[in-house]
Amino acid sequence: MLRSTLLMLSENKKFGSWVISNGTTRRMARRFVAGETLEEAIAAARRCHEVGMMASLDYLGENVANTSDAQRSRDAYLEIFEAIAQEKLQANVSCKLTQLGLDINSEFCAGLVLSIVERAANFDNFLRIDMEGSAYTQRTIDLVKRVRARNPAVGTVIQSYLYRSEKDVADLLACGCRIRLCKGAYKEPEDVAFPRKADVDANYVRLMKILLSSGFYHAIATHDPQLIAATIRHAAEKGNSKDDFEFQMLYGVRTDLQRRLVKDGYRVRIYIPFGNDWFPYFMRRLAERPANVGFLLRNFLRS
Ligand SMILES: Cc1cc2nc3c(=O)[nH]c(=O)nc-3n(C[C@H](O)[C@H](O)[C@H](O)COP(=O)(O)OP(=O)(O)OC[C@H]3O[C@@H](n4cnc5c(N)ncnc54)[C@H](O)[C@@H]3O)c2cc1C
Repeated sequence: MLRSTLLMLSENKKFGSWVISNGTTRRMARRFVAGETLEEAIAAARRCHEVGMMASLDYLGENVANTSDAQRSRDAYLEIFEAIAQEKLQANVSCKLTQLGLDINSEFCAGLVLSIVERAANFDNFLRIDMEGSAYTQRTIDLVKRVRARNPAVGTVIQSYLYRSEKDVADLLACGCRIRLCKGAYKEPEDVAFPRKADVDANYVRLMKILLSSGFYHAIATHDPQLIAATIRHAAEKGNSKDDFEFQMLYGVRTDLQRRLVKDGYRVRIYIPFGNDWFPYFMRRLAERPANVGFLLRNFLRS
């Protein structure tokens, strides 16, 4: 219920303007967002590097309304790859297709994505296409497959809360696509996604096992200690080495667990978002953790 309300509010412009302009919520957001500039994101990636973790930089933004905003996002991504190479960081990049014009025209969007992937490949790097709400799932998979056929330096994300995901995993593995597995962060109806957490988790384990036996390098993205333990157990049983896959976690979430996995010799990559369009990302993080929410709503109602 609370999760649904927060996810609904993440699309509310009035609430968004209040959150963005309010000093307290700006400070709260800094827990999950590295800063507003590329320099701040690079500094966060460097801190990860120093403690043996990799990074994935995400320039925040989604659902742009015109082609010039999409082109500006493309330019920002090209610059991120330059900065990563210059700084010699162990980092790749994550982006969302609606930030690159998917809502406007998928042909146009595919052109922008291909130019970013080509830049990634020039630096021997990699672009991860995040997965957004279920209205975009098929279009995202189609576009990733299409771009991948031209240049393989791109992969995407599968969400274990969707009923369709096992079929999508098979589809993507058939073309050798690298996958990040997560639970899913959007508000989805019951005819599309498992409503019960236990089913989302069981599907996560099922998909994780498929990915780990696929022979390709994938990412297990979760902060859930039980799913991490299940992955470690399965990898050991199947003889996967610790370098055959990586764990991924979000900036500012379960840093204790991040460090523990590094200490145990696992590959860990931290998803580092930055930029000034942080409101929807911040709301999705709150929806995953109700503890701070009462505080946020009380401040809003008082304002
Ligand atoms: C690297 C990465 C990339 C992602 N990319 C996508 C994507 O492309 N598309 C998409 O839909 N989703 C994405 N997600 C979000 C994901 O779908 C989940 O919403 C999110 O990871 C929470 O699920 P969980 O697996 O951590 O399990 P949960 O059961 O939600 O959480 C397990 C434990 O982790 C801690 N925790 C989890 N979230 C938070 C939080 N926000 N604040 C504080 N503690 C928290 C808590 O201790 C909680 O008990 C991504 C997640 C990660 C880690």
